[in-house]
Amino acid sequence: MPKKLSRSKLVKKLDTVFSKYIRISSADKNGYCTCVTCGVVKHWKEIQAGHFMSRKHYSTRWDENNVHPQCVACNVYRAGEQYKYSVFLGQYQAEELYLKSQELVKYTNVELEEMIEDYTERLKEIT
Ligand SMILES: [Zn+2]
Repeated sequence: MPKKLSRSKLVKKLDTVFSKYIRISSADKNGYCTCVTCGVVKHWKEIQAGHFMSRKHYSTRWDENNVHPQCVACNVYRAGEQYKYSVFLGQYQAEELYLKSQELVKYTNVELEEMIEDYTERLKEIT
């Protein structure tokens, strides 16, 4: 039986596989993604999966509508460009995500493991 991962390790593992899934699934056939807030085009390995509502909100942390390719400049140095992000999403989606982010969600370790498995499978299908 494989050793059970701690909760923080599960969260980290899910973040990694989810980020990879977002970037690869958003890439064109040559592996390039467009930053949703400034339009710069970069290879998926050189772009990040940027959150509209911060990762501190677990209810939207792994919501595919809330996470899109974003360059390091926008995601890190310009703190996520949340206003421009909302323009990209459109008012309706931005509002929906805002409301969902305010819900308190606590995923169980089993749920986290299931999401890791799910995204690992989905990654295999597209790579
Ligand atoms: Zn950018």
